[in-house]
Amino acid sequence: MYGISRSINRVLELSNRSFTKFKQPGARKVSSLHLGSVDTVIVGAGVVGLACAQKLSSAGREVIVLESAGAIGTETSSRNSEVIHAGIYYPKDSLKARFCVEGRDMLYSYCLERGVDHKRIGKLIVATSDKQRVTLEELLAKGAANGVSDLRLISDDELRELEPEISGVAALMSPSTGIIDSHGLMVAYQGDAELMEACFAGAGGVLHVKLEAEPPVMEACFALVLEACFSQ
Ligand SMILES: Cc1cc2nc3c(=O)[nH]c(=O)nc-3n(C[C@H](O)[C@H](O)[C@H](O)COP(=O)(O)OP(=O)(O)OC[C@H]3O[C@@H](n4cnc5c(N)ncnc54)[C@H](O)[C@@H]3O)c2cc1C
Repeated sequence: MYGISRSINRVLELSNRSFTKFKQPGARKVSSLHLGSVDTVIVGAGVVGLACAQKLSSAGREVIVLESAGAIGTETSSRNSEVIHAGIYYPKDSLKARFCVEGRDMLYSYCLERGVDHKRIGKLIVATSDKQRVTLEELLAKGAANGVSDLRLISDDELRELEPEISGVAALMSPSTGIIDSHGLMVAYQGDAELMEACFAGAGGVLHVKLEAEPPVMEACFALVLEACFSQ
């Protein structure tokens, strides 16, 4: 398991000026974070929250990440197929298509730079009938429209040569599809963010945000934050 970092000194420092403590009915301990006093609060330490933390902290912003679980990446981000998608299937000109193609290249570069385990193993989309061959051609055109420029239709002979156990009439080869150690990626993001003094607090949960308050207030129930507050 990958634990939430215990950068207690940083939390203490922030809580001195950011957190107050109070008890809700039902004796639930809740911290109130005044949003006006912190640059960025990220709720959720999945891969998206961690990537945001990495990027924003490296841009010099103060970042606090609040995670309800006791560790980073315990939800969807640790239960996926760990595929780096090439960007073939999304509708042309959609943000998903654009971000998938651009993000894929950025992700490969980041993995190389930070030593995150990954392999650009490629993917074969196999047609088992002539009817499906037409679908492959459509996918080829769709991918090309999205900027996936390395797709290639291969014949049944080439397919057999590459993968003797697969029988099909043709295949679409996607060399840019790969696989990644998603935990390794998340740990790398967390490490980068912590180097830039981002602060992680876990084992609680953000209850709600009161944007109408002045300054806006976020109420959260976090073991680490509370621990920091109570030790004052
Ligand atoms: C079966 C499956 C396979 C997939 N395969 C792939 C794939 O191969 N390649 C790919 O790129 N994508 C894949 N995806 C999509 C990918 O996993 C998700 O897009 C990604 O994990 C979403 O990350 P996230 O950070 O938004 O969400 P999450 O990982 O769910 O993170 C959200 C975090 O927020 C926390 N949280 C929630 N509420 C609160 C609260 N109130 N207070 C504090 N914390 C809170 C949660 O505990 C959690 O840690 C797949 C998805 C599924 C379901």
